[in-house]
Amino acid sequence: MKHHCALCGRPLASAAVFIAQYPVGPSCARRAGLLELSKRAGGLVHPGRRVATRQVKPQNLDLFEVDA
Ligand SMILES: [Zn+2]
Repeated sequence: MKHHCALCGRPLASAAVFIAQYPVGPSCARRAGLLELSKRAGGLVHPGRRVATRQVKPQNLDLFEVDA
């Protein structure tokens, strides 16, 4: 599913913030001051989900073992 910025309508790879359920891109969020607003609790502006991308390379060992 392709998201579009709620403020400018451009297609988004990932949303910087959400106004309710509407995604906003990083440039628009910065210009509109939504990044600071998203850090406050209890508002309609939520921070976008950051997807941690860790590429698992089997030839590399972990520096520290993680006990699950
Ligand atoms: Zn935008």
